[in-house]
Amino acid sequence: MPRISRALISALLLLAMTAGPGVLADDNKHVLLLHSFGAEMRPWSDYAQGIRQELNRQSPWPLTITDQSVVSARYDTNSSEKPFADYLAALFAQHPPAVIISVGAPAAAFVQRNRGQLFASTPMVLTTLEERRIRYSDLTQDDAVIPIQIDYKAVIVNILKVLPDTRHIAVVNGTSPNEQFWSNLIKKEAAPLAGRVELTIWDNLSFADILKEASRLPPHSAIIWEGMNVDAAGVVHDGDEPFKSLRAVANAPIFGYTEPLIGQGVVGGPFNAIRDTSRTTAAVSVRILGGEKAGEIRIPALPFAAPKFDWREMKRWGIAEGRLPQGSEVDFRGPTAWEQYRWQIALIATVILLQGVLISNLLRERLRRSRAEVQAQQRAAELAHINRYSTAGELTATIAHELNQPLGAILTNTETAEIIVKSGAPNLNEIADILADIRRDDQRASEVIARLRSLLRKAPFELKQIDLNDVVRDTVHFLSALAVARNVNLTNHIDPLPLPIKADPIQLQQVVLNLITNAMDAMSDMPIAERAIAISAKRDRNFAELSVSDVGPGIPTEKLKNVFEPFFTTKPRGMGMGLSIARTIVEAHGGELWAENKPTGGAIFHVRLTLATAPE
Ligand code: ADP
Repeated sequence: MPRISRALISALLLLAMTAGPGVLADDNKHVLLLHSFGAEMRPWSDYAQGIRQELNRQSPWPLTITDQSVVSARYDTNSSEKPFADYLAALFAQHPPAVIISVGAPAAAFVQRNRGQLFASTPMVLTTLEERRIRYSDLTQDDAVIPIQIDYKAVIVNILKVLPDTRHIAVVNGTSPNEQFWSNLIKKEAAPLAGRVELTIWDNLSFADILKEASRLPPHSAIIWEGMNVDAAGVVHDGDEPFKSLRAVANAPIFGYTEPLIGQGVVGGPFNAIRDTSRTTAAVSVRILGGEKAGEIRIPALPFAAPKFDWREMKRWGIAEGRLPQGSEVDFRGPTAWEQYRWQIALIATVILLQGVLISNLLRERLRRSRAEVQAQQRAAELAHINRYSTAGELTATIAHELNQPLGAILTNTETAEIIVKSGAPNLNEIADILADIRRDDQRASEVIARLRSLLRKAPFELKQIDLNDVVRDTVHFLSALAVARNVNLTNHIDPLPLPIKADPIQLQQVVLNLITNAMDAMSDMPIAERAIAISAKRDRNFAELSVSDVGPGIPTEKLKNVFEPFFTTKPRGMGMGLSIARTIVEAHGGELWAENKPTGGAIFHVRLTLATAPE
C-alpha cells in the first residue's frame, strides 16, 4: 500500500516552489483538475479531457489547467489522504487555484472531506458524479455540483429490448469502496426485473477468474461492464487493458453506459454523454471564474443521452436495426459497397450500360431483320402464288384433258344406262355397275379440280412433316397428262424408304412443277422419241435429295448461276421468275437448289433438304 512519506512531501514542496503555480502570469486564471483515479483512467480521463477542451473554448480569459489525481480513491483506507491534502495545500500555498474541479465521486469525496484544510475559500465544482454520491450536507457556499444520473434499470431494459432472449446478465465490477457502492446500487435497481432475468455480480472474483467465467457463459447471456479498479484478489487495474481483455474472451455481448466504451466493443444503449457533462462543467466554472457564487449555482442532474450503438457489435450479435429503441444513433457503420469499391462498381456499371446499349441495338437490328424477313417471305409467297397461276395457265390444256376423260366416261356410261332402262327387261345389276363407274369417274374429276385448287390456294407458309416421296409422286401424277401431251417420257424413281421432311407441301410441289415444266420446255425442239425426264428422290446421309434431269441442251456453263436470278429467261414468253422463286422456297426450308450439266448431255437440278429424322 503506497504511503506518501514526509521526505517525498518536502521534495514536492521544493518542486512546487520552483515550477508550481507561483510562476503564473497575472491575467492567467488557474484551474485545478482533480482526478479520481489518475489522469489516464477511463472513463474519467475522457471526461477530464472534454472539460479541459470546453474550458479553453468557453473561457474569455487565458487559463492554466493543472492535473492532480486522488490516488487514495482506489483503496479502502484514508491513511494516504492526509499527506496528499498536505501536499496539495503546500503546492498551491502561494498561488491557490481560482477554481478546483473534481472529476468523479472519489475526488469529490476527497475535496469535501478535506475542504477546511485545503483551500477553504476556493470555489469548487464537483462534476461527473452520480447524484446519489453527493453529500449535500457537506457542501459549502463555495461548492457547485454537476450531478449525473446512472439509470441501471434503463441499462438492463435496453439489453432486454435489443436481445429479448437474454436470461442471464453478469456484471463485471471491482471491490474498491467506490465499486462496492455501485454493486449494491445495481442489485437494488435490478431487483424489479428479477423474474425476467438472472443477475450475477462478479465482484467477489479475481479478474483472471472473471475472464474465465466470461468465456464460458451459457447461451442467452449478456455482460455489463461496470468497471475494474481493484479486483477481489487486491490487484489494481489501470487503463483500457481490463476491458480489452474481457472483450477478447467474452462469449456474450458486452454493454456499458459510459461514452468512452462505445467503439471499444460494447453493443451500446443509453449513456452518460461526455459532451453534456463537459459543457455544463466548463460553463459553471467560467461563471464562477467571472465572479458568481458557486453555492448559488444549481444544476439539475444530467440524464442519459439518447442511445448510441456500435454497428459492428450489432452485426456480431445479430441485432437488427429495427430492435433498437426509437431515436437511437448507430455509429461505426462499415463502409458501404459503393464507398469501398467505387471505381470497380463504376467500371462494371459502365460496361453493363455499354452492353445494354449494344444489346438493345442488336435486338432492334434483329427485330428489323426479322420484320424484313417476314416481309420478304410474304412477298415470296405472293410471288410464288402468282407463279403458280402462270404454271396453271400452262397446264390448262392438260387439266382440260384430265377432266375430259372422266366426264366423257360419265357421259358414255349414262347413255348406256338409259338404253338399258328403256329395254324391256333392264338388268339392274348392270345398271348398278354403271352407276358405280359413274361415281368413280366423278370422283376422279373432283380430284383433278381439288388438286388444281390446292395449287392455286393462297396459303400462308406452313411447315408440316411430309414425305418427299409423296410430293414427287403427286406432282408426277399431276403432270402425267401434260407429259403425254408434250410427248415426254416422264419417269420417277422414289426411295423405297420414307423421306420425312418438314416442308410446306404446296410450295414444294411448285418447285418440282417448275423444274419439270422447265425441262419439258428445254426439250421442246428435240425429236419426240428422245424427250425424257427422270425424277428421283433418295437419301443422302441426313438429307433427302430430289433431282430432275432431262436430256435437253443443258445450260451454258457461264449461265449456271444466272438461271436463278429474277427475270433471267431465254424463252420468248418467259418471265424468268420460276427458278428464282423455286430457290427462295427451298432456302426458306433451310435447303439448297442448284443446277448442273450432265456429262452425257442435258441439265440436272438438285434440291437438298434436311431429313426430319435421321436415317436408320
Ligand atoms: P422462265 O421459265 O420463265 O424462263 P425460269 O426462271 O424458270 O424462268 O428459267 C430461267 C431460265 O433458265 C430459262 O429461261 C432457261 O434459259 C434456263 N433453264 C431452266 N431450266 C432449264 C433446263 N432444264 N435446261 C436448260 N435451261 C434451263
